[in-house]
Amino acid sequence: MNNFLKEINFAKYSSIRIGPKSEVLIIEEIGEYSDSKILGLGNNVLISQNHPDFAVLGSSFDYIEKKDDLLHVGCATKSGKLLSYAKKNDLANFEFLGKLPGSLGGLVKMNAGLKEFEIFNYIQSIKTKDGYIKKEDIAYSYRHTNINTIVYEVVFNCTRGYSKAQAEVFKKMRDNQPQVPSAGSCFKNPPNDSAGRLIEAVGLKGFQKGNMAFSAQHANFLTNMGEGTYEDAIYLINLAKEKVKEEFNINLEEEIIIY
Ligand SMILES: Cc1cc2nc3c(=O)[nH]c(=O)nc-3n(C[C@H](O)[C@H](O)[C@H](O)COP(=O)(O)OP(=O)(O)OC[C@H]3O[C@@H](n4cnc5c(N)ncnc54)[C@H](O)[C@@H]3O)c2cc1C
Repeated sequence: MNNFLKEINFAKYSSIRIGPKSEVLIIEEIGEYSDSKILGLGNNVLISQNHPDFAVLGSSFDYIEKKDDLLHVGCATKSGKLLSYAKKNDLANFEFLGKLPGSLGGLVKMNAGLKEFEIFNYIQSIKTKDGYIKKEDIAYSYRHTNINTIVYEVVFNCTRGYSKAQAEVFKKMRDNQPQVPSAGSCFKNPPNDSAGRLIEAVGLKGFQKGNMAFSAQHANFLTNMGEGTYEDAIYLINLAKEKVKEEFNINLEEEIIIY
C-alpha cells in the first residue's frame, strides 16, 4: 500500500479534544520521514494551531503475529486490541493495557505504564527504519525513552498466563479517573512525590481557566470541559509550574507533549 494524505480534525482525534483540522501523512511504508513528526492516537498530546507537519502510521502497521516465543506487533495496533489478543491467547503481562489508551508506537515511545508495570519491562526489541534494535541498546526510564525516530514494530517476549485477577486490579485503579476529555497525566511525578499532590497543595485542584481545568477529581488531569482552548491549557500548565516552583522549589515536567 502507498502512503497518502488525509485530513484529521484534532479537536475530535486527540483525547483532549483540542487542535485544528490538518492534512496528515499516513505512512504505509517504512522510510525516513524526517520532515514530519510522528503521532499515534493523540492520547498524550496538546496540539496548537501552528503545529509541525504530522505523520501517522497506517493500517499496514496494525498487526499482531506470534513467531515462536516472540510476539511481533505493528505500531499502529491499539492497546485494547493487544490486550484482547493476550486474553484470547492466554499471554501474561499485557493486563495493564486495559484503560491505557494509545497505539503501540505511542506506548513504547512514552514507556507508558501503571505504577511499576511499564511497557519496556516486557519488550525484546523495536523495529525502526534501521532494523531491529535490542531493548538493551535503548535508554528508558519512567515515562521516558531516548527513541527519536519512528518505531514501526515492537517485539515482546511471550509468557503464558493471562491473569483476570490482575486485569481487575488495574481496572479498579482507574475508577477515580475523570470521565471528561483529557490527555491523561499532565505532569510526570517528581521523584518521591506526586504531581497531583503538588497541584492540590498550591490550590489548583479544580481550578478552571475558560473551559480548561485541573480536574477536581484527579488534580494532575488537565481536562477539557467543552470547547477548551490550547491557550487556556498552556496558561494552566505554566501557572502550576510557577506555583509549585515558588512553594516547593520543584520543577514540574510536562508528561503531555506540546506541539
Ligand atoms: C484517560 C487517559 C489515561 C491515561 N493513563 C495513562 C497511564 O496510566 N499511564 C501512562 O503511561 N499513560 C497514560 N495516558 C497517556 C497515553 O495513554 C499514553 O502516553 C499512550 O502511550 C499514548 O499513545 P498514543 O498512540 O495516543 O500516542 P500520541 O499521544 O499520539 O503520541 C505520544 C508520543 O509518542 C510518539 N509516538 C507515537 N507513535 C510513535 C511511533 N510509531 N514511533 C515513535 N514515536 C511515536 C509521539 O511522537 C509522541 O511523542 C493516559 C491518557 C488518557 C487520555
